[in-house]
Order: sequence, then structure tokens, then C-alpha cells
Amino acid sequence: MTRKIAIYGKGGIGKSTTTQNTAAALAHFHDKHVFIHGCDPKADSTRLILGGLPQATVMDTLRVEGAEKVTLDKVVKTGFKDIRCVESGGPEPGVGCAGRGVITAIDLMEENEAYTEDLDFVFFDVLGDVVCGGFAMPIRDGKAQEVYIVASGEMMAIYAANNICKGLTKYAKQSGVRLGGIICNSRNVDGEKEFLAEFTKAIGSKMIHFVPRDNIVQKAEFNKKTVTEFQPDANQAHEYKELGRKIIENTDFVIPKPMAMDELEAMVVKYGLMD
Ligand code: ADP
Ligand code: MG
Repeated sequence: MTRKIAIYGKGGIGKSTTTQNTAAALAHFHDKHVFIHGCDPKADSTRLILGGLPQATVMDTLRVEGAEKVTLDKVVKTGFKDIRCVESGGPEPGVGCAGRGVITAIDLMEENEAYTEDLDFVFFDVLGDVVCGGFAMPIRDGKAQEVYIVASGEMMAIYAANNICKGLTKYAKQSGVRLGGIICNSRNVDGEKEFLAEFTKAIGSKMIHFVPRDNIVQKAEFNKKTVTEFQPDANQAHEYKELGRKIIENTDFVIPKPMAMDELEAMVVKYGLMD
């Protein structure tokens, strides 16, 4: 059975970095077959897997050549350890709804049977602080069964995580989607681990892994690689291997209970995160 996983979180928090590095670790260390579907109009969800190879997005191909030309050989590229990659892309800047592209792209991939049964994991890397419109698509219609939220100890990242939980609870009953945990992508904020531990407990979930902040991530990125490809024996590669293992073994899937705003604010004050 293919596990379909959506990765959410505030912009810039490290969704694409974490998704690609975890995918690379799953493929390299755990021998898993992985597919990454980038759902950010920026179309930068797969470049570390593809070594920076320019990729035709689904929306660009659709616009220029028409729906019948959106074939897998045109829009799906294979990179490190046979990880398959597609980018939804977006509308022309300033025209149309970006979320629409996500819906169109996932529909087209399903029609073309891109998510084949040999896959262990499909990751949807989804932009968005709030789960609305097209960006809710991966979790609204049962496209993904599991969600992980990337967060840090920064106040805005936690607010975004809480908002995403609110969106999730809305769709959980109808689509069956569940929260598998919060991934802490550390910003080295004081008390980050404790704060996130308390937050995840309050919403009825868990911190599935604490990913340290490490310059090797950027060094690998500069070389258009994941850490696992760039330096598989580095400590950070081991961290992504661990995150991969925990995702493989995860059995805690919940409908989160988002925090009330005043409770969340009190928690932020308690940890001194507002300055
Ligand atoms: P998002 O996809 O959520 O918008 P990105 O994955 O593009 O965010 O991450 C933004 C930047 O943060 C990247 O350029 C990346 O180099 C950096 N980054 C992410 N995670 C880490 C980490 N654990 N250690 C160091 N740098 C990181
Ligand atoms: Mg991204």
C-alpha cells in the first residue's frame, strides 16, 4: 500500500528541504520507493532530488501544449535513488488562483496513473499557512491520508501549525485524513523543544522528530543535493534517516484539537516567545 503524505507548514519553515531530505533518506537508507509531488506555485519542491534539472511544470505544459500533452514522460522526472518528481506549478503571476493549479495537477497525475502501486510513499509538499482553496485539496478529497506539519519554536510557525490543524479537523471526518505529527525543524530558539512538546501534547499529537538546524543543509543545497546524497555519513543525514524511520513506524494518527487563541497566546507568553 502506498502511503500518501501531505507536508504543511508556514512559508519558509523548511517544508521542501525537509520533504526532499526525508525522501532521499527513505530511498537511500530504508530502500523505499518515493514520489514527490510539489504543490507550491514556486515549483521548488524537487530541485535537490533532480540536481537542479529544469523541470516542465504541469501548469506550464497545460497552458502551452494542452491537457493531452501533460504526459508522465513530459512532467515526471526521476532523480536521486529513482525518486520520481512532479511540480504542479502555478498560474501566470497575478492571474488566476494558485490553488487551482494544485487541483488540476493532482487530477491529471491520477488520470495518468502516476502514483503507481510499487510506491511506498507519495509526498505532497504544499504551500500554505492556512488550509484553504486548492491548497486543501490534498487532504480534502482523500488524496493524502497522513499529514505532517513542519514547525519551529517561532511564534508565527506555531500559529500557522495551529491554523493548519483547524483546517484539518474540518476535513478529517469526510476524507479520513489524520495528523501523524509535528516535525520540528529547529530555528535554535530558546526553549523550542519544550514549547513544541507542550503544543503538540495540547493538540493531541506528538513531535515526531526534532531536526537540528545545520549549515550542511545549505551547503548541500548549494550543490543542488540533499544531505544524504551530498554527505551520507554526516550527522544531519542520520537525522533525516531517523525521521524517515519514525514515519515508517508511525502508528499515531489523530484528528488534532487545535488550541484556542487565548490558550496559545498564554503558552507563547509562558515561553517568552513574543520578543
Ligand atoms: P518552505 O518549503 O517551507 O518554504 P524551504 O524548504 O525552502 O522552506 O526552506 C527555506 C530555507 O531554509 C532553505 O533555503 C534551507 O536551506 C533552509 N533550511 C531548512 N531546513 C534547514 C535546516 N534544518 N538546517 C539549515 N537550514 C535549513
Ligand atoms: Mg517549499
